[in-house]
Amino acid sequence: MLYRCLLLFLLFAAGARVPGQSVKPASPTMDEIRELPDTTLRLAFHFVALPDGTNFVRDARDSLVVAHGGHEKLRADVLMYYLLRELNHRFRVALLDYPPSRDTKLRFALVGGADRPLESAAFYREGEPLRPVAEGFNIVFTRYRGRGRPDAATTGTGSTTIYVYDRLQTYLAGSHDTWTVARLIGHELGHALSLDHTFKCDNPCAGRGFDPLEECYGECTDHNGGSGAVNCFGGSPRELMMGYGSQLHLTVCEVERMWAFLLR
Ligand SMILES: [Zn+2]
Repeated sequence: MLYRCLLLFLLFAAGARVPGQSVKPASPTMDEIRELPDTTLRLAFHFVALPDGTNFVRDARDSLVVAHGGHEKLRADVLMYYLLRELNHRFRVALLDYPPSRDTKLRFALVGGADRPLESAAFYREGEPLRPVAEGFNIVFTRYRGRGRPDAATTGTGSTTIYVYDRLQTYLAGSHDTWTVARLIGHELGHALSLDHTFKCDNPCAGRGFDPLEECYGECTDHNGGSGAVNCFGGSPRELMMGYGSQLHLTVCEVERMWAFLLR
């Protein structure tokens, strides 16, 4: 027990940022992570309207909800509730190949707290500058205006902004799917917390839980920008979150890397 307490102290001491002092980041093993308190990632949601002004709404009595048969996912607070629930479930059971637990020990909450979810939501006209929240991850629901129509994007390691594209249109068309949306956010958070695609040739976790070639039909990529020449979708029965496909699971190496990033 003494050893365990000492170890925890050292982990947090190494994770603390001391001004003017360079400290090598802690790289906890999964056994060590299992003994740490959960880490909660706080999310702020940003909803950008379509060109005609249509947007997710704040009020259950809004005419848009009424016109769509009471479609509750058009309400920002309800949508956020489902996404948080799905993300928390996903990260509780995501870990593969670690018999003691499937829990990544990562949790999700709203930056403004659970009691008033709309305080964690911001609404915009199309083209209006975003007002990102500094102390959390910013999840931006918006329309994709370029070519290629990705489902979601982030700029990579260290980013705190995640874009989710064209979901309002799918809800207006009748979809009630939040499972896919949480899956997309989880994948992009993985990038933001330093993870590469499983089919990236030089993925630092390659060989520990997956083979990049098996993740994309024998064609790994040298970047995180997408599939490349071969469509990697469904490339592995492992259903890894950082591959393309079901995106359910994380390997021990990937969870250790995310925690090392968070404790840096
Ligand atoms: Zn990706």
